[in-house]
Amino acid sequence: MHDNDCLFCKIINGDIPSAKVYEDEYVFAFRDINPQAPVHILVVPKEHISCADEINETNSANVAKCFEAIAKIAKAEGLDKGYRVINNCGEYGGQTVMHLHFHIIGGTKLSEKVI
Ligand code: 5GP
Ligand code: ZN
Repeated sequence: MHDNDCLFCKIINGDIPSAKVYEDEYVFAFRDINPQAPVHILVVPKEHISCADEINETNSANVAKCFEAIAKIAKAEGLDKGYRVINNCGEYGGQTVMHLHFHIIGGTKLSEKVI
């Protein structure tokens, strides 16, 4: 199910170009247009789920698939010393694109820690 007005649905469909790094039946991953670290990749479920708050027992398998993909992508990108996975949820969480996505940030020793 796609949302016609959703930026990331358009990227998944190929209507908007992106630097794709991974794709399978459930997951699409591409480089962030405004990278915050040497490696900055966005991992998204192909199904339009607007935010983490919309995850439920019907669609949560997509989230598991995202994290399976994250482990594969991290290996492919050589992030053997570690990395950070970030999800911003909703207005107070700083989410700007309302299609669930996980940021993979890495390629250097990260300093800023929220927690
Ligand atoms: P959020 O702030 O919602 O957690 O993350 C949205 C991310 O999407 C930002 O890091 C932003 O740089 C990225 N982004 C926004 N528009 C585009 C785009 O058109 N292409 C790509 N590759 N990334 C985008
Ligand atoms: Zn979408």
